[in-house]
Amino acid sequence: MKKQVLLDSFPYKVDSNGACSMLGDDGLCTVYDHRPIICNIEHMITLYKLDQSEYYKTCADSCNILIKKTGLSKEYLVEIPEKLT
Ligand code: SF4
Repeated sequence: MKKQVLLDSFPYKVDSNGACSMLGDDGLCTVYDHRPIICNIEHMITLYKLDQSEYYKTCADSCNILIKKTGLSKEYLVEIPEKLT
């Protein structure tokens, strides 16, 4: 399945600030057990035969860029060890 198809078929609205409408006030996904495939990291790693460590690092790097751009506290920065167990 092509990644663009997964993006185009995302079933929920995304707010103008980029937040998914299924994100609860507590910061957790309200449909977690039935979330779209693209939200399931373990499934995406398997589906696209990705290197797990590299995928986690890419996600952490993306989060950290957003945290810095939006001026959030550095306490939210994500650290991924070089070697994941
Ligand atoms: S896991 Fe997916 S469906 Fe749930 S809040 Fe995040 S983006 Fe939305």
